[in-house]
Amino acid sequence: MTPRLLLLSGLAALLASLAYLTGSNLLVIVVAVVLGCLVAMVLSEWLVQRALTPLQETAERLAGGDFAARAHENPDSATGRLAGSLNRMASHVQQEVSAAAEERSRLAAALNSSIDAVASLDRDGRILFVNIGFERTFGVTSEAVLGRPLVWALADEQIMAAIRDSRDRGQREINIIERPGRRYLQVVTTPITGGGEWNVLIVCHDITEVKRTELVRRDFVANVSHELRTPLASIKAVVETLEEGALEDTHVAREFLRRADQEVDRLVLLVEELLELSRIESGEQPLAPEDTDIGVLVHEVGARLRSQAERADVMLQLEVHNVGHANVDAARIERAVLNLVHNAIKFTPAGGSVTVAAQRLSNALQIQVTDTGIGLDKEDVPRIFERFYKVDQSRASVGSGLGLALVKHAVEAHGGTVGVYSVPGEGSSFTIEIPLYG
Ligand code: ADP
Repeated sequence: MTPRLLLLSGLAALLASLAYLTGSNLLVIVVAVVLGCLVAMVLSEWLVQRALTPLQETAERLAGGDFAARAHENPDSATGRLAGSLNRMASHVQQEVSAAAEERSRLAAALNSSIDAVASLDRDGRILFVNIGFERTFGVTSEAVLGRPLVWALADEQIMAAIRDSRDRGQREINIIERPGRRYLQVVTTPITGGGEWNVLIVCHDITEVKRTELVRRDFVANVSHELRTPLASIKAVVETLEEGALEDTHVAREFLRRADQEVDRLVLLVEELLELSRIESGEQPLAPEDTDIGVLVHEVGARLRSQAERADVMLQLEVHNVGHANVDAARIERAVLNLVHNAIKFTPAGGSVTVAAQRLSNALQIQVTDTGIGLDKEDVPRIFERFYKVDQSRASVGSGLGLALVKHAVEAHGGTVGVYSVPGEGSSFTIEIPLYG
């Protein structure tokens, strides 16, 4: 009950008591009027309350975030019209809110589609948003980092300084940082103006692969120069010796020419291997699969290397059991097998043996080259397929270190794998497996 009603009720009670005590008719009439007013006021208050309560409930639901709440409209009453206005306002707010939500999801989808790590920070450097790339790059979950300082996920003084600079000077900063495991990140910090709480945006781009390629290219040039220099220096020495008089002695001259010839062969082989590697890597020479008799292919390799094996006193055995035909690039697979057998003979001391076995597995072609040679140390095994990798660099004359890289390329181009099992001092076994379809 409102204070006005209380006052009126008190007044009516007072006047009624006076009318009763004095017996005055006038007072009775006044009491009746006051009571009438009282009843009218109570009634009107009740009616207003009844009309406003649903409006108030709707307004409270809207205030609580339930933007679908609507009040009952009635054009014939003031409160009904008020309900109409409230409903229109609610629809407007609902549209605005859903537009903002759509905008947010679109932004999150765009940021999440990037493989780069993206984070937004507030003025104090606390994380307000991270995308999926950020979770993946730093191995964290958004729940774990939201609201925490960035340093919690990315502790790097260079980056912290870049963030401070971006924020204070309003400038974009780009830094390259090294992360554990020799990973490199390019970190771009950008100040955000008019972004509300979002004060600085950080984008981390993984450039490990770019760095690695750069390094490989530098190594490659150094390796090629080194490999070319050795035979060229030998040829130059031979020519100089001949010039200095060795040419007069036919026997010595012949020997020097033979050496020069060997070095030229080495150069030719190296250049051929380099060209082949570059053709494969650039994709310039696509695979040319053809129906190939694998038994014939293996025998071909055997025939080409038999004299090398005999010279080295290494027994070369071929085991080809009903392997049949396969759809492969014959030239490349023959070259790969040739490289493996050539190595096997090269790294097997006199009296040893090399076996080439080909067989058809349920859904693959398998070619195995096994030798009883010097074998490989465990730490060398993962590296021998790298370009220019030689186990013993001092055995400079042994080869270019490109042979196995070519084998790997050729086999992988067929969707296959090449593996090695080796025991130092006992021998090695290289296995090529090429999937067969159909
Ligand atoms: P290379 O031209 O030097 O033979 P490869 O790429 O063919 O180059 O081989 C890389 C290195 O792997 C060789 O230098 C050698 O040290 C090692 N290797 C390859 N095949 C064998 C093998 N059958 N037995 C022992 N070591 C091998």
